[in-house]
Amino acid sequence: MPGHCPVCAAPRRFLPPLGGVQADTSFRESLHCETCRCISRHRAAVAVLAEAVPDLPRARVYITEQASLLFMALRKRIGKLEGSEFVRSLRRRHALSAWMLAQGCRSYVRFQDVTALSFRAGSKDAVVSFDVLEHVPDYRKALREFARVLKPGGVLVMTVPFYAASASSETIAYVDREGKLQTLGPPEYHGDPVSQGVLCFHHLGWDLLAEMRAAGFAEAEALRVSDAGQGIPEPLWLFRARR
Ligand SMILES: [Zn+2]
Repeated sequence: MPGHCPVCAAPRRFLPPLGGVQADTSFRESLHCETCRCISRHRAAVAVLAEAVPDLPRARVYITEQASLLFMALRKRIGKLEGSEFVRSLRRRHALSAWMLAQGCRSYVRFQDVTALSFRAGSKDAVVSFDVLEHVPDYRKALREFARVLKPGGVLVMTVPFYAASASSETIAYVDREGKLQTLGPPEYHGDPVSQGVLCFHHLGWDLLAEMRAAGFAEAEALRVSDAGQGIPEPLWLFRARR
């Protein structure tokens, strides 16, 4: 499928899913760009980011991932891009940094906890977070941190597995007062490129918009994005908020 890749900012071809196209194939997580290898969901988010932050090459952007193809591709477009992984182990971060170096990207993998970011208040033009929030026990605190580190007018672009039929978010796991993990029903693990699988704590519904505003964002929107010309044939949910 030919088109324009917003991550590469160039004409590219998007490759069919490895197992071929079935009746239940999701194009959200497939259609890799032949060059940057980013998927449909990444392209939709980067297209929204590029529209919200016109001077991307000079913008100060924080993305809640680092040992990823998307981070490596965005580093070519954004001069002041910082990423991180929720990996405390120094040895593991050495290994991830070595993997990035083998891909031709010299960038030491940093640790950040999205509920306690090390960045100064108002120090970022944009924060980008893809399918992270549902894994954070106190996701409201993470939203407050995203708002804190953004300058006034700064923008948050986010994807989550969105429950568009639900008015309210549902907590399916939590950490109790003793710090022990509790699950309500069968635990739900999502695939993660840096680990075996990450526990999902929340099914996020429409009240996410109100939570974003309560966290300090002046405006918050849910977007439905599709653009076959950018390799996004299936409409995807995205969240955009302005500090
Ligand atoms: Zn690309």
